[in-house]
Amino acid sequence: MVDKFQAVVIGGGPGGYVCAIRLAQLGLKTALIESRGSLGGTCLNVGCIPSKSLLNLSEEYRKAKNLSSKGIEIGKIKLNLSKMMKNKDKAVTILTKGVEFLLKKNKVTYLKGTGSFKSKNEIKIKDNQNNETSIQADNIIIATGSDSVTLKGAEFDEKIIVSSTGALKLEQVPKKMLVVGGGYIGLEMGSVWSRLGAEVHVIEFLDHITPGMDKEISNEFMKILKKQGIIFHMQHKVEKIKKNKLGAIVFTIDKEGNKKDFESDVVLISVGRKPNTNGLNLEKVGIDLDEKNRVKTDKNFRTNQDNIYAIGDVISGPMLAHKAEDEGIAVAENIAGQSGHVNYDTIPGVIYTTPEVASIGKTEEQLKDLNIKYKIGKFSFMANSRAKAIDDGEGFVKILADEKTDKVLGAHLIGPHVGELIAEIGVAMEFGASSEDIARTCHAHPTFSEAVKEAALSVDKRAIHS
Ligand SMILES: Cc1cc2nc3c(=O)[nH]c(=O)nc-3n(C[C@H](O)[C@H](O)[C@H](O)COP(=O)(O)OP(=O)(O)OC[C@H]3O[C@@H](n4cnc5c(N)ncnc54)[C@H](O)[C@@H]3O)c2cc1C
Repeated sequence: MVDKFQAVVIGGGPGGYVCAIRLAQLGLKTALIESRGSLGGTCLNVGCIPSKSLLNLSEEYRKAKNLSSKGIEIGKIKLNLSKMMKNKDKAVTILTKGVEFLLKKNKVTYLKGTGSFKSKNEIKIKDNQNNETSIQADNIIIATGSDSVTLKGAEFDEKIIVSSTGALKLEQVPKKMLVVGGGYIGLEMGSVWSRLGAEVHVIEFLDHITPGMDKEISNEFMKILKKQGIIFHMQHKVEKIKKNKLGAIVFTIDKEGNKKDFESDVVLISVGRKPNTNGLNLEKVGIDLDEKNRVKTDKNFRTNQDNIYAIGDVISGPMLAHKAEDEGIAVAENIAGQSGHVNYDTIPGVIYTTPEVASIGKTEEQLKDLNIKYKIGKFSFMANSRAKAIDDGEGFVKILADEKTDKVLGAHLIGPHVGELIAEIGVAMEFGASSEDIARTCHAHPTFSEAVKEAALSVDKRAIHS
């Protein structure tokens, strides 16, 4: 007899597992299918979590090496890369097992294997021994995520030509690493290997890094990374990548038409990610895809088939774990007859380098394009007492507020712990707060968060400490 569920989620990443738990909480008999052999998707296995573990440990290493300049002598600092990698793997295992426990606790049936459509209500599951089973479902949620893309002719071998997945498990520190693409994944991984001793070069097609970010922050970010030793080659187009005896050569052409080759032992290609729609047999059920091969959905995450939904990296919008999670919750609530909703104007984006970079809402460039009149409030961490006390004064907070109503329209931060500070602005924006609301909220002293308050005060030119 074929098992029947009220809801089946395909893909166990942050979108899929959160969706499955919410569906079960709402009383639906739910199953989740995952092909990877471990839960948590890209994020927990080869994305957010292992990258943050390495970012943290490499930063500890860098800091430890500089402690003697601050009066703390601890002798020669030595890197044990394999131990560092084991530490990262331990964090991944604990978290992925934790998700398995959560599914069990919420009575979600976890089915290991690759799911594909047999019909609009039936899914085939093939396990890694090639055994096939089928299940039936009233509602199906596609949450199959995304995968790294490479450049034409450059296959990932994950040793010399690597995706972020390979860059998370290199067995030795490369002498020289080329990062193709100046987006957040390339800059995070480039920072890790630069701190551990590699000479890191970033090759970027555009004239600025982190496309889509507020330009002032992006310029400041690049300045700081340069100071840290990362070398940038802007407006260089990669024409070809070829492996050689020592590693690989990246052939580029700059905006003036000059050709330049770069040789290195490792090349990280971080030029974007593509939605995982292959192998789902979507043609069988006639699911529409958009021009980028993403599953097309309406605002309720419904595809052109009324019982089939899609969320996360496989649909349009920022490829971020928390966006996938929020969509997972919203679609579960919609299926259960509630009114699930995601506010795309308040999805924060964080880059976990040192210093961190965080943004939410509109950038100055977007406000100009939309012809919205705005005021700017800015405050430098150089004038923040906590940052000064611990010698961590790089960066600033920038708040954009509507010129007439003072409503906060966006915020862009670079500096210590701004990945945490951005949450305050997110809550403020959800409540439709004005910059004055933030400015009049009491912030503890001495904290980094006072820089947010001062930036809010500065919108009306009344910051106290600058
Ligand atoms: C190096 C790196 C660092 C990142 N850092 C961050 C960060 O700091 N913060 C952040 O917000 N985001 C980060 N991201 C992005 C984040 O990982 C993704 O946005 C997020 O994982 C998307 O979640 P998802 O559930 O849509 O898909 P995924 O996490 O990709 O999960 C989809 C799952 O579906 C499974 N699957 C696919 N097809 C099938 C099938 N047919 N049957 C069964 N299972 C299937 C896959 O195996 C996968 O496990 C990072 C990504 C990378 C690569």
